[in-house]
Amino acid sequence: MPQAALARPGGPVRPKWAYRARQTAWAVVDLVFPPRCAGCRRSGERFCTACQTSLSLITAPVCEWCGYPADPQAGVCRNCRGRGAAALAGIRSVAFFEGPLQGALHQLKYRRDVILADTLARWLAQSWDPAALPGDLVVPVPLSAQRLRERGYNQAGLLARGFADLCGLACRPEALRKTRHTASQVGLSAEARQTNVRQAFDAQPAAVAGRAVILLDDVCTTGATLVAGAEALAAAGARSVWGFTLGRAR
Ligand SMILES: [Zn+2]
Ligand SMILES: [Zn+2]
Repeated sequence: MPQAALARPGGPVRPKWAYRARQTAWAVVDLVFPPRCAGCRRSGERFCTACQTSLSLITAPVCEWCGYPADPQAGVCRNCRGRGAAALAGIRSVAFFEGPLQGALHQLKYRRDVILADTLARWLAQSWDPAALPGDLVVPVPLSAQRLRERGYNQAGLLARGFADLCGLACRPEALRKTRHTASQVGLSAEARQTNVRQAFDAQPAAVAGRAVILLDDVCTTGATLVAGAEALAAAGARSVWGFTLGRAR
């Protein structure tokens, strides 16, 4: 993908200097440690063209609320029907969480391949349509203090920074905090996920009051985490909150 002009629905954007500076730094690292594709492990590129073209992108028509592919006549899908007006305006995701994207996000999250975040963020930037998903502030879904200590970095925070730098948006990772450690959501039912993360977040009014927030995460499964985060952001005075994720569970 060309670096200077990034084509997306809102028109091309020029990445912020911070993103370009990191790209230069990563290029130096690549000279010393040639990258492997995060999707297929082939040597040479960080995320190869073959893997990028095999992503299962999520395109319109989608459910107005959850962003899952849906009947264009329906407006909202069957799962979202009757759902009350929540703090979360809706969710949009770039591609299904499978194949090379699953491999790449695993690499980013568990194998400390932090450079990969800027490459993957290009997919967020390219598919972000400001008309469909309005926002002027990017806030990543935070990790608990305990999880952050264990992992050393927040993968959603790295993706949020790359996305914000590419789209000329502000990014405030400190605006949303996870106030308690929650059990892993893996293997829990939709209902159990909601209970697990309810009131686990706290937002800073000084950072989010009056702002249209894009709450960013790596993967969306049931949306429970995004809803809980959005409730905290709305309580702190955010004007609107949209969830945006790179991957989406089938
Ligand atoms: Zn590949
Ligand atoms: Zn839906």
